[in-house]
Amino acid sequence: MDTSRSHALFDRARALLPGGVNSPVRAFKSVGGEPFFVQRADGPHLFDVDGNRYIDYVGSWGPMIVGHNHPAVRQAVKRAIGAGLSFGAPCAAEVTMAERITALVPSCEMVRMVNSGTEATLSAIRLARGATGRSCIVKFEGCYHGHGDSFLVKAGSGALTFGVPTSPGVPAALADLTLTLPYNDFDAASALFAERGHEIAGLIIEPVVGNANCLPPRAGYLQHLRALCTGHGALLIFDEVMTGFRVALGGAQARYGVTPDLSTFGKIIGGGMPVGAYGGRRDLMQQIAPSGPIYQAGTLSGNPVAMAAGLAMLELVSAPDFHAALEAKTAMLCDGLEAAARAAGIPFTTTRVGGMFGLFFTGETSVDTYAQAVACDTGAFNRFFHAMLERGVFLAPSAFEAGFMSSAHDDAAIAATIEAAREAFAATAA
Ligand code: PLP
Repeated sequence: MDTSRSHALFDRARALLPGGVNSPVRAFKSVGGEPFFVQRADGPHLFDVDGNRYIDYVGSWGPMIVGHNHPAVRQAVKRAIGAGLSFGAPCAAEVTMAERITALVPSCEMVRMVNSGTEATLSAIRLARGATGRSCIVKFEGCYHGHGDSFLVKAGSGALTFGVPTSPGVPAALADLTLTLPYNDFDAASALFAERGHEIAGLIIEPVVGNANCLPPRAGYLQHLRALCTGHGALLIFDEVMTGFRVALGGAQARYGVTPDLSTFGKIIGGGMPVGAYGGRRDLMQQIAPSGPIYQAGTLSGNPVAMAAGLAMLELVSAPDFHAALEAKTAMLCDGLEAAARAAGIPFTTTRVGGMFGLFFTGETSVDTYAQAVACDTGAFNRFFHAMLERGVFLAPSAFEAGFMSSAHDDAAIAATIEAAREAFAATAA
């Protein structure tokens, strides 16, 4: 495979961009090697600057649920562009977007549009702190909520001790206010709330974890967290930046039947444009400026082009049976990969929820904790990743990221992926 043009671009990029990229995981540091540079994308495929084609299971990290360059989204963007790029004053598409989100996700009685998932989660915890008058937030090991200071924190030496920053630049005094729990552990959550419940403004969780591979919630776990938050006057925040409109039309909250106080969104609602949103109970959202005192703003928030892309995308995913069909594709892929691994004698299992999935190089038959995810054989994953890439399949370049299915992945693309995996597993074993 010729990658000389990508290589030359990466050389130029490294001179001027930290690590050669504008977001760390793109640099392939975790799997080794160098990234390819994309020239264009269409349907389930990416095409690089050297003319190589890849079946893409990254999907721009989630937004591309109908495949790349979908004509309906493209047309909507073209129409919007004709009327101007940004107004800095209200426009109708923002109202339509709010109507659409609140209709699809009933726990969101009101919403505020922002420009990224990071902005959405930062704003949601400010609201939780402002509304409750408390300072602590709870997050889970392995969950990612963007790069806000309060989220770049891991557990201290004991589960009930202060959090410690995971990045220089995050003040220890702020990290102290982030309490970290193991995902899917009922007792740890009960113990933390028993001890510190009165200090907790809100608990934020990826209801299906997609940033530590893919970890589904245990039966009753989200309900348990709901009860703890209600019992202790803390807000339950579902970070649905990844799961929203993907694991079900109404997101994880619809799939598992749990109603959060606040939710955050991104990715799919922007249709590939930079968009985020947060929403929730009316009495909470009304505390946001200008109707309330909790400040949050954005020059480009509710941008008309981004709203047009997002609305077109929401229209497409609202088609009858869209999510059932997507889930069937994910099942076909995961079953095929497991069979290919078995045939090659590789210890391997998958997880999947709707249109997202996880690949685990492990002898365990089911994986749903962060500890299990980090115990997997990352060396085997990295070999598999490169063997797949050489065969024209692009998986997430890290053993700790979920994979994303799109409606554009037809049977032929999935069959070709499984065929590539048969060879790649054999190469991984060798
Ligand atoms: N929350 C979750 C669950 C995410 O997966 C991400 C990004 O991957 C974010 C928040 C941050 O979103 P963004 O990268 O748009 O800032």
